Amino acid sequence: MADRAHPVTEQRHADLRSPLPADERDLPVDVPWLRRRAKLFSSVSKRDFHLVTDLAAYASVSGMPYLAHYAAQVYTGPKTAPLKVPLMAINLQLVTTREEADRALAHETMHLVVPSYGHKAAAFARAQLLLDEVGQLTAVPA
Ligand SMILES: [Zn+2]
Repeated sequence: MADRAHPVTEQRHADLRSPLPADERDLPVDVPWLRRRAKLFSSVSKRDFHLVTDLAAYASVSGMPYLAHYAAQVYTGPKTAPLKVPLMAINLQLVTTREEADRALAHETMHLVVPSYGHKAAAFARAQLLLDEVGQLTAVPA
């Protein structure tokens, strides 16, 4: 789920457009902001998840080592006993701007909503839709 090594996947991820205003995209990410933002993605996708930024805790719960080069990852539990509320880990060492955080949240939420899409173009179209919906949710009426 978190493998973005393929150049096509990298490019599709990089092409995701954050709805944040230009002057906010490069702002640093702090955990309270990330939590509020994650709630918006949860709301538009109608999919609950726990946001985890403590990667050691994530590794301990999921039973899988968190690889340092992964920007983000989701864990839905074992197939025989899926978690009611999946975990979404965001690596704040790699996700340093709000624009990058938006891309990571959209990408991982997409995996929760349409796991069978993998990293196909349709997967990223869905991720973009989630970003657009978050943008509509946060749009300030003129
Ligand atoms: Zn992915």
